[in-house]
Amino acid sequence: MNRALGEMRLEGVPLSPGVALGRGCFFQREVSSFGTTAAGDGVREAHRLNETLAWMIQRQEALARDAEARLGPREAEIFYTYQMILEDGTFQQGLFDAVERKGLTAAGAIERQLDLYKAQLQAADSEYLRQRVADIAEIQRGLLARLCREVPCLRCKDKGITCDIGQCLLGNDHVLVARELTASLPMEMDSHNVGFLVEKGGRNSHAAILARAMQVPAVSGIRNLSASVPFEARILIDGDTGEVFLNPSSQTLARYQSALDAGGPTLQILDPVPELRVMANIERAVDVQEALAVKAEGIGLYRTEVEALAEGRLLSETEQEARYSKVVGAMAGKGAVCIRLLDLGADKTAAWLGTLSEDGSMPECRGTRLLLARPELLRDQARALARAAIHRPIHVMYPMIVDVVQFRRVRALFDEAVAGLNPHMLLHGVLFEVPSACLQAPQILREADFGCIGTNDLIQCLFAADRTSEAEDFEDNPVLWRLIEDLCEAAREVGKPMSICGELAGNPNFTRRIMKAGIAAVSTSTTRIGEVRRSARHHLS
Ligand code: PEP
Ligand code: MG
Repeated sequence: MNRALGEMRLEGVPLSPGVALGRGCFFQREVSSFGTTAAGDGVREAHRLNETLAWMIQRQEALARDAEARLGPREAEIFYTYQMILEDGTFQQGLFDAVERKGLTAAGAIERQLDLYKAQLQAADSEYLRQRVADIAEIQRGLLARLCREVPCLRCKDKGITCDIGQCLLGNDHVLVARELTASLPMEMDSHNVGFLVEKGGRNSHAAILARAMQVPAVSGIRNLSASVPFEARILIDGDTGEVFLNPSSQTLARYQSALDAGGPTLQILDPVPELRVMANIERAVDVQEALAVKAEGIGLYRTEVEALAEGRLLSETEQEARYSKVVGAMAGKGAVCIRLLDLGADKTAAWLGTLSEDGSMPECRGTRLLLARPELLRDQARALARAAIHRPIHVMYPMIVDVVQFRRVRALFDEAVAGLNPHMLLHGVLFEVPSACLQAPQILREADFGCIGTNDLIQCLFAADRTSEAEDFEDNPVLWRLIEDLCEAAREVGKPMSICGELAGNPNFTRRIMKAGIAAVSTSTTRIGEVRRSARHHLS
């Protein structure tokens, strides 16, 4: 924490990009009449449970319709999923059994049963299932709130005003301060709500997806928010970096002025520097325009699975070809385009992906391992890449490779898929993000055309660290840097290029160290390119 001229700076986790400035507005739940009853009146409790479930189901449907109209089917899906869980026969039976057989109150049953589901999900091997704990928690909170007649409201204590959700009486810009960003919050806010500052909530949560879809900046991961943020504070949040300024100074405001005026993420535009090639990480084909705007010297990572997840389905070969061609065409003459094969599985999964497997099971493996288990996923993408690379080269990146044997297998599968398409403009490279692959770097690099270090997963696998909340703690760990240096050495020995594309690449504090390790190209989000170049230039002068 850094205090200067009354300003207080906090560091959180960026959830949704953009910069927002407003007064603090505090989300609270007020209990108008406590609605639990003592156990014993089973019939009455079953009736209350029934009424609460029916209300909650209707509410999810209304939220889903609203989301569909305002945002689209993907966002509506979140609420339809809650509705489906609530309507599920086994789910309801568990609750009614707890009331009718075990003699619990309706609230007790909701608490006990849903805690049980949460514990089961928490213990699951799959990251995707563990992330669903938040869904059950949201349903539990909603049911209990209804049962206990809780009224969510907004307070700005300095003015002594309490408003209903979505009806700011002051009618001025505010940043909503809450313990947790729940999925319904972004849907219920009015246009005066310019940002979210919360204690809990991961980037992959549904709530964060909705905040991003609604282009409302959000930052999470600030502990003890109610104690840290004074009621009267003006709050500036930077959803790109996770920085939060309470009562921002005039210097801070000046620094963010253009971003606030533009209403979008800050884009610093600096000319390329000769010694370090700075490329862009993109998630969608349309992002290539932003990459061009910041003078990116290529696309160092195109996370193609994000478009499939956003669409809620796999894209056809033709659709994929169109997107890849668009990116390659736009970057012609600017630099290489590295398109990563679908890195699906684990937390990047969806029901539609599970339904594709013959036995109907959800995929538990991720990245290349999933592509090998489900070759149909690779086939269309490989063909689309080969077609898009008719006139210009494409660097194909293989995610989560574990060793040279696996790389050979997936390469063979790729070649089989593109047979007859004359894929001579394709280059094949490996993402080094699993320690076992790093240990075999010389062998792998002899067979690959290039390598790229994915520090996000590498840190997670190497240090058994939570990628969303703990990764930064390990960014300057000597073990990580030893590995990075060894990878660079291996690349030098076999004469293949090595770049770096994890979050670390966008941290200007590490630019110097990355260059010293012998890396000549990095790839990062478009909002970081300017800063990285500034740091590289500084290093050179
Ligand atoms: C990485 O793991 O560093 C990486 C770039 O891949 P992603 O963040 O998409 O997992
Ligand atoms: Mg990765």
